[in-house]
Amino acid sequence: MASAPPAEVLAAGLAQLEAQQLYRRRRVVGHAPGLGPAEALVDGRRCLVFCSNDYLGLARDPRVAAAMACAVRAWGAGAGGAHLVTGHTREHHALEEALAAFAGRARAVLFSTGYMANLGLVTALAGRGDLIAEDRLNHASLLDAARLSGALVKRYAHADAAAAATRLHAGARRRLLVTDGVFSMDGDAAPLAALADVCTRQGAWLVVDDAHGFGVVGPGGRGSLAAAGLAPEAAAAVVGTLGKALGTFGAFVAGDEALVETLIQRARSYIYTTAPPPAVAAATRAALRIACAEEWRRERLAALVARFRGGAADLGLQLMPSSTPIQPVLAGSPGAALAASAALFEAGLWVTAIRPPTVREARLRVTLSAAHEPADVDRLLEALDRLPGLKAAA
Ligand code: PMP
Repeated sequence: MASAPPAEVLAAGLAQLEAQQLYRRRRVVGHAPGLGPAEALVDGRRCLVFCSNDYLGLARDPRVAAAMACAVRAWGAGAGGAHLVTGHTREHHALEEALAAFAGRARAVLFSTGYMANLGLVTALAGRGDLIAEDRLNHASLLDAARLSGALVKRYAHADAAAAATRLHAGARRRLLVTDGVFSMDGDAAPLAALADVCTRQGAWLVVDDAHGFGVVGPGGRGSLAAAGLAPEAAAAVVGTLGKALGTFGAFVAGDEALVETLIQRARSYIYTTAPPPAVAAATRAALRIACAEEWRRERLAALVARFRGGAADLGLQLMPSSTPIQPVLAGSPGAALAASAALFEAGLWVTAIRPPTVREARLRVTLSAAHEPADVDRLLEALDRLPGLKAAA
């Protein structure tokens, strides 16, 4: 029997997404002279950007760009091989040392992306016969990693340490408790002190993906463990991403000597891939220096977060319990989220609608950056005030 050609089958799937208002479209970002630090040309329209992960405003910092340009002249464009072959340059090595020192751990190892760091880390630490407990709202890469590992995967109720404890039953050979430090779509913090306590009592290993906490939360931006008053050693491994607070690209895992050596020997997404360009490592080291030295960026961010939350509460918008730069506004339905995002875009404000399956409840994922001015936040609040649909969702 002749079956439908692939294009027909796939088009039907796409039409279904469209009908459910779950179809995703990419906007094309451009540049123009005279744009402010938080502005971009988006599909040709000048917009204030309220949905990037450039929390400290370093992605376009001229010092970071200059470090990259200088390294490109010295090293060329690419690493030319995997870390275990020709790709591990002095730039990568120096960045790993700087990141380990910042994280307060003996070693750190670079990965090309956060997604790959999570895949490599979890599959190197756990396999068949092991058990992985994951927060329900963990990042997709952590959930994919657990599935790929072949370990038994148990998901626990969001941010619920008691529920996590019940999932870590004693049968398995090795038990991992894996959590985001700051949840990427809700902006709230994992209860790390309680989770670390569960791990200590049950002999499980705590793994924290601090993609959104690293550089942003805790004293000196040292991340979610520090924010929770924990020592770096409370976690067996911490993942940090470089494409968010540091404004560049890539990721790292920090831990003790044995942990990092295990990853170098066993993490397949580390071994079987080209090392990131050395210039990216050089730019990241410059960004890390700035992120450490310029505390005003985190202070400004905290003030902007307070300004946004205060204003949004006055407007009767439905916020989530987040003190981080991730400030979602619940929209009620995918259609309402899309309509609100489109109306904001017409007003020159770029805020993406996040819908299922990424999240259960559709929302505008507002993010703030040290590149914003207080007046930018006021402009966003005024535009949100003109969206009656959003308040109806509250
Ligand atoms: N972990 C979390 C919590 C994230 O939010 C993201 C990116 N959205 C990643 C990992 C993946 O990082 P990268 O973008 O570097 O692949």
